Amino acid sequence: MAGGGMSGTRTYLDYNASAPLRPEARAAFVAALDVAGNPSSVHAEGRAARAIVEAAREQVATLVGAKPSEVVFTSGATESSNWVLRRSWQTVYYSDVEHAAVRAPCLAASGRLVRLEVCADGTVDVGGFAAALAERPTVPGQSHGLIVVQAANNETGVLQPVAAIADLARAHGISVFSDAVQAAGRIPLDMTELGLDFVSLSAHKIGGPKGIGALVIGDGTSGDAVLPPMLIGGGQERRRRGGTENVAAIAGFGAAAAAALRDLADMKRLAALRDRLERDVLRIAPDTVVIGARAPRLANTTALALGGVSADRLVIALDLDGVAISAGSACASGKVGQSQVLAAMGVADVIAKSAIRLSLGHATTEADIDAFLASFARHVARRPAANRSDTERTSDAAPQARARSMTLAGER
Ligand code: PLP
Repeated sequence: MAGGGMSGTRTYLDYNASAPLRPEARAAFVAALDVAGNPSSVHAEGRAARAIVEAAREQVATLVGAKPSEVVFTSGATESSNWVLRRSWQTVYYSDVEHAAVRAPCLAASGRLVRLEVCADGTVDVGGFAAALAERPTVPGQSHGLIVVQAANNETGVLQPVAAIADLARAHGISVFSDAVQAAGRIPLDMTELGLDFVSLSAHKIGGPKGIGALVIGDGTSGDAVLPPMLIGGGQERRRRGGTENVAAIAGFGAAAAAALRDLADMKRLAALRDRLERDVLRIAPDTVVIGARAPRLANTTALALGGVSADRLVIALDLDGVAISAGSACASGKVGQSQVLAAMGVADVIAKSAIRLSLGHATTEADIDAFLASFARHVARRPAANRSDTERTSDAAPQARARSMTLAGER
């Protein structure tokens, strides 16, 4: 994928951070900019704006198996998760694989907080959730409890056992919130079938504009789980979020959702590209660890760690070569910090610090993978020989971490 708004040809492999705008989304966005009306106005111009918003609402709803009336447009997934967690829940169950946009509001939530264990493969421990529920039985209809479980992880691509968790939650009258930001448009999702109460979405991860997203609020949601409005004001979004709708961004989101749904069929191609990438990386550097490879994963994501290579330096070196990737544990500032996700999986620190994340998407080609591999091979060849087995040596000092890193190293 060339360009990316920068001069020269670039290779962009950071779709989980933000995907390039899809042509369909750009066209819908630009066309909507010329509609003068306010969607709340009754005249023809207002009705034209309303029609754009409602068409997009239908497209977004279809992506996740919801009804249009269940979709509330927000400024993005961070707002959506803050909204869900701002209401007072008696108990909130969550885990450290959640994105900071979800984890931080969980930590700030009032009420009891229960942190669930994460297995070494990156999935939330369903047995641990069942045990936590058994420890404190809840009365359906009176629990006001919420389980927070993402659909797919942004750092590793690991898919969470959402269906099993939702089944358990339902049996205990607990509401379910799933951050589907990384999963939407990459795996089939049906929130009604899964029995989810709340789903958060973000347009820019699926090739829509930045700064627009949605909270999907299942209308089968029990009376307990109803949220107070996010914003009060003019009564927009059926009184759930006041403020004139961001019509152009909503139009772009809708178009991106439709295109992402259509492109689910393209996931096989991306899986083949990702698998080839991992095979060739292991050929170049056989001691590479593929993090989370033993769990079901998104087809577009790989998290790789290489002993003796610092992720932040590798990211910069690749960037200078024209290849955009992320450090696996990059925080919002772009700096490599402690990754809660990798720590929760029991990944040894030395591995986490060398973890890089590559994420592919609709415009990724074989040539992008070739460009990454050429640059990667060059930088890895320069790696000091003494550091090549850093991962194993360091792991020797910590038997538990070693057992886990060995498992990870053997995951392929
Ligand atoms: N959840 C996940 C898994 C993400 O990857 C992100 C974005 O990085 C978010 C939530 C936050 O989304 P937004 O940028 O729309 O606030």
